[in-house]
Amino acid sequence: MSSSVDLGTATAIIVGAGPAGLAAAIALKKSRPEADVLVLDKAAGAGQHNLSGAVIEPGPLEAFLDWARPDWREDAQAKKVFGRRVAREDTYLFRGRDSAVRLTPLLRAARGLGMGPGHLLHEGDYIVSAAQFVAWLADLARQAGVELLYGFGVDEVVTDERGRAVGVRTVPQGLDRDRQPLRHHQPGELLRAEVIILAEGSRGFVTERWVEKAGLQRRQVQLYSVGVKQVIEVSPERYQAFGEDRVIHSIGFPLWTPMVGPGMTGGGFVYPMGESRLAVGLIMGLDWHYRDLVPQEVFMRMTEHRMISNLIEGGKVVEAGARMIPEGGWHAIPRDPGTKAIGQGNVVLVGDGAGLVDMQRIKGQHNAIASGFAAGMAAAERLDQPDTIAADYTRRLEANGVLAQMKAARNFRQVIARFGNLFGFPLTAVANALPQLTVEADYRTMTRAQYPLRFERPFDKDAFVASARVEHREDQPVHCEVLDESVCRDRCPGTFGHPCVGFCLGGVYEMHHGEMRPANPSNCLHCKTCECKCPYDNLRWHVPEGAGGPHYEIC
Ligand SMILES: Cc1cc2nc3c(=O)[nH]c(=O)nc-3n(C[C@H](O)[C@H](O)[C@H](O)COP(=O)(O)OP(=O)(O)OC[C@H]3O[C@@H](n4cnc5c(N)ncnc54)[C@H](O)[C@@H]3O)c2cc1C
Ligand code: SF4
Ligand code: SF4
Repeated sequence: MSSSVDLGTATAIIVGAGPAGLAAAIALKKSRPEADVLVLDKAAGAGQHNLSGAVIEPGPLEAFLDWARPDWREDAQAKKVFGRRVAREDTYLFRGRDSAVRLTPLLRAARGLGMGPGHLLHEGDYIVSAAQFVAWLADLARQAGVELLYGFGVDEVVTDERGRAVGVRTVPQGLDRDRQPLRHHQPGELLRAEVIILAEGSRGFVTERWVEKAGLQRRQVQLYSVGVKQVIEVSPERYQAFGEDRVIHSIGFPLWTPMVGPGMTGGGFVYPMGESRLAVGLIMGLDWHYRDLVPQEVFMRMTEHRMISNLIEGGKVVEAGARMIPEGGWHAIPRDPGTKAIGQGNVVLVGDGAGLVDMQRIKGQHNAIASGFAAGMAAAERLDQPDTIAADYTRRLEANGVLAQMKAARNFRQVIARFGNLFGFPLTAVANALPQLTVEADYRTMTRAQYPLRFERPFDKDAFVASARVEHREDQPVHCEVLDESVCRDRCPGTFGHPCVGFCLGGVYEMHHGEMRPANPSNCLHCKTCECKCPYDNLRWHVPEGAGGPHYEIC
């Protein structure tokens, strides 16, 4: 570990300036203006690492904004960010490349009967650009007096000899490939705080290490999916024909087709983003079996479906990106084994970092905001007894309905993981009547099978990375680690044929003379798929020097 500088003490440090972290910061600072509230984010600027769909449930968002900024509806920028809402929606089962069955009436019927799949309707939701939404929240935080530091990756929660968290350590800057200091070197900084809120999003690097160190436990292993997305500028006529109040969702092809396969889970979406831009995305469960799968190729297959291709024909990709989603839900929330708190003492987990994505709705933004709000209020109320914050925060999540909602969806994803789409999807209607199901970590599900719908020509990952505007300082230490090179050399090729070359969305990993190398770490999208999909659990992602990674403006 590198040496570090002790930079003094803040009242609270929040790791991650996504919706969860910013909601927490605003809530705390507005409630206790005397508190020093510091938010650290590894992105170069506000919103640049925040990729989502996104349709946002209005309830928790409006409750938070009405509290934090009662006149938000009059704000010119807010009018832009929240200017589109879902009035029309179509959900399809794609039965192959050309055929689709509209499921919306079935979903409406399910909603009428109070059944789980009815939650897949989105009428009234806000349709937002995640990057722009987060940038606006960051402005709100600054106006409230929160200190926001971009370009600072956090490496770990620092604890004292009794195991109590005393602060965080930032990632050192200005090291060369061999970890030797360059002229502009800045060692990792120790930032002390009474309260630490971990809001790193999906599979947070600091969060996961702290969960292990503090002994938090999940009832079930976390499951993930990866979402691949392009923002496509289409002709004004096509955009107008689509409409600004409409969203499309799909299940089926190219993830699964009844009887024929492939057998994957997930679904696609098309959302209007303003300025003649359509966001087209595909979310695929990481429990796929195919050793040669390239996520972007599967995404491109979806765009070939006539319902999608008709919308985007002649369009130009203006941005692209990818990120993982935690899908395990209720059973995969890490908790203190003694107190059942989602955190411990003066450390709490919020948003995707806590796994608060409701898979019945396929949404996490509303819970990210609600959990951040709850964490900020708990911290404000308990500042004099910081070691009681995690328990207070968890009680607030019970009171505000977040945990009830997570519990209601507790078996949704697991049923599909266990029984597949054909039988599992209908079974989700009665999922909660089933006992807790055992599921395997995503990296264990790979087989020798090949994805049946592959492209003839390889997907251009360099172009994809360029569309995400990914940049890292080239000669910094490599942040994508192969744990045991002998596994890559001796075991993996004969069994799986080094699948990381295909599934890494940034094209980071390459085979050179029989050796696996993270050859292009500066292409990394920070999606963390590699950590969860290497069949030998042989890859680790570390937080690189601050300000590297994607630079999303819309995603
Ligand atoms: C393709 C896709 C589509 C989605 N669609 C929807 C949708 O339509 N509706 C919906 O409600 N939800 C959707 N979601 C889920 C939703 O995006 C998340 O639930 C939500 O963004 C979680 O917010 P968060 O603040 O917890 O994390 P994030 O938004 O991921 O923010 C985490 C922040 O932490 C920073 N960070 C991480 N680690 C560190 C570190 N070590 N040091 C410093 N900074 C760090 C990151 O840079 C980032 O800014 C979608 C997700 C994906 C991937
Ligand atoms: S990193 Fe994992 S997937 Fe890649 S070659 Fe090594 S063992 Fe195989
Ligand atoms: S190295 Fe890992 S985190 Fe980076 S792009 Fe590849 S899969 Fe994603």
